[in-house]
Amino acid sequence: MIKNRSEIKSSLITDAVSYLCKKAACFLPEDVYKGIEDIYSRESSEPARDFLKEILDNAHIASKTRRPICQDTGIVVVFAEIGQNVSIEGNNLELAINKGVEKAYKEFALRKSIVNDAVFDRTNTGTNTPAIIYTKIVPGDSVKITVVPKGSGSENMNAVKMLTPSEGVDGIINFVIETVKKAGPNSCPPLYIGVGIGGTMEYACLLAKKALLNKVISFSELEKLAKTDKKRELELKILYGAEKTGVGAEGFGGRCTAFAVSVETYPCHMASLPVAVNLNCHAARHSEMIINENTIIPDDIEPEYEISPGQSFIDYSSYKKISLPLKDEDIKNLQAGDRVLLTGEIYTARDAAHKKLNQALKDGSPLPFDIKNKVIYYVGPCPAVQNEVIGPAGPTTSSRMDVYTPQLLDLGLKGTIGKGKRSPDVLEAIRRNKAVYFVATGGAACLISKKIVSAKIVAYPELGAEAVYKLEVKDFPVVVTIDSMGNDFYARITG
Ligand code: SF4
Repeated sequence: MIKNRSEIKSSLITDAVSYLCKKAACFLPEDVYKGIEDIYSRESSEPARDFLKEILDNAHIASKTRRPICQDTGIVVVFAEIGQNVSIEGNNLELAINKGVEKAYKEFALRKSIVNDAVFDRTNTGTNTPAIIYTKIVPGDSVKITVVPKGSGSENMNAVKMLTPSEGVDGIINFVIETVKKAGPNSCPPLYIGVGIGGTMEYACLLAKKALLNKVISFSELEKLAKTDKKRELELKILYGAEKTGVGAEGFGGRCTAFAVSVETYPCHMASLPVAVNLNCHAARHSEMIINENTIIPDDIEPEYEISPGQSFIDYSSYKKISLPLKDEDIKNLQAGDRVLLTGEIYTARDAAHKKLNQALKDGSPLPFDIKNKVIYYVGPCPAVQNEVIGPAGPTTSSRMDVYTPQLLDLGLKGTIGKGKRSPDVLEAIRRNKAVYFVATGGAACLISKKIVSAKIVAYPELGAEAVYKLEVKDFPVVVTIDSMGNDFYARITG
């Protein structure tokens, strides 16, 4: 009898998803790496060049050490294109995929970030599942799986708008640029900007997400293509528009706000013009594989390209060196924009730990560590493996802590380290208390973790990645972003 179905075991899908999660977490796709290299050569702003260099160095370290590029290993989005001649044997597809995600996050010590319910139960599921799964039936007898881990820093800044058809191309460009400006440094620029236009509101969002899977095209190539292709012309106009915002790498100015733009369009109702913008940070991670019944999943992950081993690492020799705890004299001499290397003791705390610190203050209970003259680093690291002191440990978005920070500063906290803008209340509290806000390079998690020489949990171990650690850091690179006079480096650049 001639077999006309291709049977794929669900365990093969589980193994494939697990492999792809690990690969996506550790290896920046080659087109993305080259896209960032491309804009590095176009950038002249010194701080922005340093940030781009750190991002490239970080990708290099991540690939060499097989550790995650960024500590936010994201919510996992999976696109599965299933051949119509395929029959999946064993678990159902959804379970097979989620088992693969769980396996990868456990085996590879990736950070688990998913909570049980968005509103009613924000405890961690402990597995980084469920994944967000999109399926499509296509001709053929194989399954194509694409895994896209997405961090919240950039996902939180996405937007969708129903334009009127009369707003046309100019309206689309304006909306996209407005979204990029609003995101500012929070989405860890330079960005890959995905734009979905058409369909319905929810379909435009899906198009924007899928657009990010298209290969990055260099500026020069896009300029050539734009002469004869309307879609490329639109992408180029958006790229130029992003340059003009002045946001720049990590929000520190310069022209390289984005390294790529990809537009996907679709038919729509004659009265509609849905536009969705999906901003991806520079850690534009994804990995894909086509499997059939004979596929063997490799045991180990390997990069598909070699990041030049002769690459020189960033030179920090012009940075000011500061020892912790911060002294009033040191703080007084720091100005917004100064690039600094910190050495000494810092504490970590992010959302859940701040909530607990705040509750302790409300209850009149002592804080688990004396915050006087201390520096808090907003970070939720990946778990450590083997000889690591700590897993990849880049900064998280500071604004989520804004509601708690003024009170802590009034109680003697002298500095905070994170990424992105602070609220006017925080800025005023920094000025009032003669404190300082530093920014570390978002997404440079492997590079930053190498600057941490010891790590010990001192409070709230039950919070996992959100526990409070005491860290000993050596030459930890940061930029003074709000100085003790209340000068905001972001405001100087982007207003
Ligand atoms: S690079 Fe920034 S936005 Fe992207 S996942 Fe990491 S922390 Fe989040």
